[in-house]
Amino acid sequence: MPCVFCEIVAGRIPAKVAFQDEAVLAFHDINPQAPVHLLVVPKQHVTSLLDLTPAEDALAGRLVRSARDLARELGLGERGFRLVFNCGADAGYSVFHIHLHLLGGRKLSWPPG
Ligand code: 5GP
Ligand code: ZN
Repeated sequence: MPCVFCEIVAGRIPAKVAFQDEAVLAFHDINPQAPVHLLVVPKQHVTSLLDLTPAEDALAGRLVRSARDLARELGLGERGFRLVFNCGADAGYSVFHIHLHLLGGRKLSWPPG
């Protein structure tokens, strides 16, 4: 089974792209949970947070900073937003290519469900 997010990175599965550079792709979630719901992924395949190595520290930072920049560009800097890495079954991790959720545009409850 090909990885869905690798297929999106390769352009073989369509997605509504919000941002990309040489290392990162950000696109709109197909099943948005908030008015803004983007997924920020590395272009290289990393299976999950558990697989991140020290060599990928800079990549992890780029995911976070890209998501922060997008949040700001979308007008969420002042009102707030949430970044989420799910990992594993209890968190409902369902696509096994690491991704950072950017959620915003509504009041986000805490604790999360
Ligand atoms: P997880 O629960 O693994 O953290 O989140 C996976 C996310 O990927 C879900 O929010 C789901 O809606 C989204 N997703 C799954 N398949 C696709 C797809 O083919 N395209 C897009 N844009 N989002 C997807
Ligand atoms: Zn992948």
